[in-house]
Amino acid sequence: MNCLECGEKIIGRSDKKFCNDACRNAYNNKQNKDSTNLMRNINNKLRKNYRILTEVNIDGKTKISKSKLESIGFDFDYFTNIKVYKNGSEYKFIYDYGYKLLEEDFVLIVKNQA
Ligand SMILES: [Zn+2]
Repeated sequence: MNCLECGEKIIGRSDKKFCNDACRNAYNNKQNKDSTNLMRNINNKLRKNYRILTEVNIDGKTKISKSKLESIGFDFDYFTNIKVYKNGSEYKFIYDYGYKLLEEDFVLIVKNQA
């Protein structure tokens, strides 16, 4: 078994993953940094999506084309939750703003009253 951090061969117990505490700490810090960066990137995308919805949805309910939303930077892959209503319509929410895909490239944006 080689150390996950420095790649040196580990002497001693076969279940050890690191040659010493310094290597273990260095490795764990890097792992945490990656997760932090990933979360930051996702949070930024959610924040951007949210800002776009608040800017576009002035009247509480707005119909806009999907391609228009994409052209101003909206990323349809990022949302916080999905709500399916009794009538079967599905809304994707970014916090309290939701949208439903309509026919012919249109999107209905709503602000959640709940
Ligand atoms: Zn090491």
